[in-house]
Amino acid sequence: VKNANICSQSAKHKYYIESFGCYKNKVDSQVLRSLISEKYLYVDSPEAADIIVINTCTFIEKATSESIESILSYIEYKNKKVIVVGCLGQRYGEELMEQIPELDAVMGTYPFESINHIIDRVINDEKIVSIREPPGFEYDIYSRRIISPPVHYSYLKISDGCNRKCSFCIIPKLKGKLRSRRFESIIDEAECLVKQGVKEVILISQDSTAYGTDLYGENKLGYLLERLSKIKRLKWLRLLYNYPGDVDNKLLDLIITNKKLCNYLDIPIQHISGDILRRMKRDRAGDKLRERLLEIREYYPQICLRTTVMVGFPGETRRNFQELCNFVEEIKFERLGVFSYSREEGTDSFDMEGQIPRRVKEERRRRIMEIQADISLKKNRALIGKILPVIIDEKMEGKYIFDGRTVWDAPEIDNGVLITEGEAIVGDIVNVKVLDATEYDLIGEIVNKRERGK
Ligand code: SF4
Repeated sequence: VKNANICSQSAKHKYYIESFGCYKNKVDSQVLRSLISEKYLYVDSPEAADIIVINTCTFIEKATSESIESILSYIEYKNKKVIVVGCLGQRYGEELMEQIPELDAVMGTYPFESINHIIDRVINDEKIVSIREPPGFEYDIYSRRIISPPVHYSYLKISDGCNRKCSFCIIPKLKGKLRSRRFESIIDEAECLVKQGVKEVILISQDSTAYGTDLYGENKLGYLLERLSKIKRLKWLRLLYNYPGDVDNKLLDLIITNKKLCNYLDIPIQHISGDILRRMKRDRAGDKLRERLLEIREYYPQICLRTTVMVGFPGETRRNFQELCNFVEEIKFERLGVFSYSREEGTDSFDMEGQIPRRVKEERRRRIMEIQADISLKKNRALIGKILPVIIDEKMEGKYIFDGRTVWDAPEIDNGVLITEGEAIVGDIVNVKVLDATEYDLIGEIVNKRERGK
């Protein structure tokens, strides 16, 4: 991992990167930054740049509009070259250039290694559309990425692409088939990150539980987690995006016994109705999924469960939706995200009958959020008086002096801990006594610094 200050002294042109979408995109933007900085000078404001690179997202309608709005705002500047990379480029390619002819280049999700060649040509006033089909994936350039603050936690991509066929999802079309990174390449990157001061590594992918099946012919996730947890100064290791049907007891045992692995399971179920799951083409329909979640609750009560559900999938009846509400109340996930179904061209569900009106989808989304807010408040209140390890994310001004997270919280998507008293610096892991709680935050004071991991 290169130092954030690297840049070519001789660079004449200045560039800026704007990144949209998920953590995987953020990591890709850090890789792009490392590559482009070999030749051009990075600046941290778009006004100061003459080249704007926009790493786009098009997972759902809202993400697509955000990316397009950003593109439109940048082409207003007459004196800047605007280059679109990532999912939107992969999805629309030539069409995007036709619709927005002011663009200078459109690139897909990969290969990133040609980015400087594309910038060179754009500077010479060429217009370029460069899309690889199917999208590729370079394993080793990830060790060269420039991490941006905060540096006490970092995402690490273990694979990209996905072999599943969820009928609502455009990702396999944009990212291609599952391609696991080589084991050594991941360890190498993790070690580099820890040397830079990273204490918490968060493993990301489209489908973490499939890690290694393409490259090694068998699942290597457990092996990878064990090896990563041996990195000396690494404190917390967190795993995101586990496909429910592939979460086995071996993985759960490892989560609860390994001192560095956070007691946290991100298991996006999407729905619980057998009808809907079948139409979604998810492989563990209805009752089986419910049984499995109940089993996990019974045998692994110490694991914090995070899930994502989708409401308003085509054909979702009131009864199907009620099943989902009942299930959310039954399992009482500690963390839950809810999305409204987004009708995406190119997915199998696009032409399905029974598309649900936007208003109904929004009402259903709100209903689930209300149920979850009650659950979350009760769970948070039950923690009052307890002492918990908390990683400090941010120094604050005013009533709360720090913002942090427990092992049960991933950055940006989960709950926080607001701290009123005590001494620490960002990145410290401290013991916090919980004094109060709201739906999505704990409030507490630091009692002492913590030596051990989770
Ligand atoms: S597992 Fe995730 S990324 Fe893969 S097709 Fe399903 S929703 Fe999309």
